[in-house]
Amino acid sequence: MTQIPVRIDGASITAAEGLPVIAPYDGRLLGEVPACTPAHVDQAVRAARRALEEEPLPAWRRAEILDRAAEALADEVTVERLARTIALEAAKPIAAARAEVARAASTFRFAAATCRTLAGEVLPLDAAQAGEGRLGFTLRVPVGVIGAITPFNFPCNLVAHKLAPAIAAGCPVVLKPAHQTPLSGIALAELLLDRCGLPASWLHVVTGVGPTTGAALVGHEDVAMITFTGSPTVGWAIRAAAPRKKVSLELGNNSPVIIQPDADVQGAATAIAAAGFAHAGQSCISVQRVLVHREVAEALEAALVEAVEALVVGDPLDEATQVSALIDADNRERVVAWIEEAVDGGAVVAAGGKVDEAGVLAPTVLTDVHPDMRLCRDEVFGPVVGLTTYDDVEEAFALANDTRYGLHAGIFTSDLDVARRAIEVLDFGGVIVNDVPTWRADHMPYGGRRDSGNTREGPWSSALEMTEVRSVVIA
Ligand code: NAD
Repeated sequence: MTQIPVRIDGASITAAEGLPVIAPYDGRLLGEVPACTPAHVDQAVRAARRALEEEPLPAWRRAEILDRAAEALADEVTVERLARTIALEAAKPIAAARAEVARAASTFRFAAATCRTLAGEVLPLDAAQAGEGRLGFTLRVPVGVIGAITPFNFPCNLVAHKLAPAIAAGCPVVLKPAHQTPLSGIALAELLLDRCGLPASWLHVVTGVGPTTGAALVGHEDVAMITFTGSPTVGWAIRAAAPRKKVSLELGNNSPVIIQPDADVQGAATAIAAAGFAHAGQSCISVQRVLVHREVAEALEAALVEAVEALVVGDPLDEATQVSALIDADNRERVVAWIEEAVDGGAVVAAGGKVDEAGVLAPTVLTDVHPDMRLCRDEVFGPVVGLTTYDDVEEAFALANDTRYGLHAGIFTSDLDVARRAIEVLDFGGVIVNDVPTWRADHMPYGGRRDSGNTREGPWSSALEMTEVRSVVIA
């Protein structure tokens, strides 16, 4: 089969070996991408070094490139083409895939604004006696070549969250997209290089599996920073393998949401049905743990089951589909095993729990879920939410915080004091009041605590991470 080439230093590259890209919904072969070797990675990193040393771009040109990308990603034909690619390779329902492209446009738009405004600061050096008569200020200088490693679940917008701030910060990039969903990243890179005027030395794509292609990028001595989004296991191993590099990690979560008795229970149920099951629960902030006050547990369960059973399951290319297949059969089997384990431990299936003829796991709601079950403790990354009841809101806060993750948490309440208390005690990178934790605007600082990561992403926050402060003193 002819390989879909990747761009390295302006050339369209194929490799001796290829990797198949399979549509998770119907198993059809979408194409083959190069299994890039360490030599390809080296070629890409060297070219990126050259960009840094010989082809720097002033901020106004970088901002124009980012603006053009935002415009190109709003163009109807491009949106449809990219959305179809996302839908096919990730089994993301087409409507959600279009929304992802729109978010990517917004990520580039905010990165253009960042590029135009990112600046250092004036240092009041004469505040120290030794500084009297000296002028001081800081510059933000690009950290160097960026190695960007991305996960399968948002193959367009999470690539945008690496490329756009890197360009804003003045850093050339080598992108290693997820091996399951590389086509959207390849398409986005081509858009930047061919339609937006990004010079060929500034962006390179190396496709392949993590332990070879990804590891070669992590290990390359000329890569100054790795920006990684993916699982905690891989992320923290990369952190350990590259102690001399900057490594920013955006990792997983097992997102809790608390439902107080004074909440809009119907509204909460509708929001959870959307947030727990969009892209079959394969978002790092999918609702997973629903902590519901005993007084409203029955009402919430009834409303949630009704909403979940109404979700349309099927082909991601069908306009009506809201939930489709998991990324592969192994993950489907893993999620089914976790459901069975929970049921063995006393949980009750209130909706779903079955795999249909097309191999899609139905959106599943479990009640009587115990905090010690794997379904609570680990990140399920599948179409399952579990309900646990509580009697007192402090108990709910303790349950929410009883996790090694710390990305986002949510609470539904109409009591301002409870909301304020939640903001104070919920130990997460983001606390969402009166909505699900599955909420992100692309320009806000987004990231987690503990096992969920060590950084904040978003064009402004990422560009800060991708630059270093240089202090300048004029005597
Ligand atoms: P993953 O960790 O399996 O893979 C992520 C990337 O790392 C892929 O490109 C993969 O090829 C690469 N990789 C794997 N092993 C590697 C190695 N040894 N060296 C270098 N690179 C390697 O994650 P996934 O299954 O693609 O994505 C799901 C995970 O991502 C979930 O845990 C989810 O919560 C998390 N995620 C987090 C965010 C966030 O912003 N916090 C967003 C989306 C997904």
